[in-house]
Amino acid sequence: MSARILVIEDEPTVIEFLRTGLSYEGYDVVVTESGREGLARALNEDFDLVILDLMLPDMDGFDVCRKLRAFGKDVPIIMLTARTDIQDRVRGLDLGADDYITKPFSFDELLARIRARLRRAGHTAEPTELRADGLVLNVETHQVLLDGTPIHLTPTEFALLELFMRHPRRVFTKETLLNRVWGYDYVGDTNVVEVHISHLRNKLGRMGRAIQTVYGVGYAFHPEEG
Ligand code: CA
Repeated sequence: MSARILVIEDEPTVIEFLRTGLSYEGYDVVVTESGREGLARALNEDFDLVILDLMLPDMDGFDVCRKLRAFGKDVPIIMLTARTDIQDRVRGLDLGADDYITKPFSFDELLARIRARLRRAGHTAEPTELRADGLVLNVETHQVLLDGTPIHLTPTEFALLELFMRHPRRVFTKETLLNRVWGYDYVGDTNVVEVHISHLRNKLGRMGRAIQTVYGVGYAFHPEEG
């Protein structure tokens, strides 16, 4: 059973980013741009998780969160906030949100939090370890082992490897990788992807070969080639 996620957000770019990314990961996504409608749906339907924007046109995210909890809904809530003010984060958590993420964020950063929340809520489809040949990646401890030996990766390299290991043999364009790992508002060219892939390959030893270049398109992870 794929988890059902309610997204309450009014910003078109972010909606598109979330809808595309979450559907791609196999989640069942419902989007509403209104705080009131979001509240009503979250109260009357069954969702495994709610992604809640703080700034909404009709009712702010704090109110939605407070009312959901007041009505006894214990669905995990991740708040999105454009503000960097620590007070907002504290207030969100005080009102019953489980986690928050500050915009702009990368998709994988959000995904890691969603998975952590779903695991904690007992959604067993979320594994803590990904395995491919002698390569083991732990999504909770962020430890990577190759044939039992730890490999030290930067957060970006880790995010790239996690994405590849979750989707073996799938071809990712450099643009998709930029979008997924660096974020929807990243401004820069795809050379940065090539550089990080190159570092990642070097660190992965024999499994570096598993990250194959698909000429003119991008990259794909073929664990059997490692
Ligand atoms: Ca908003």
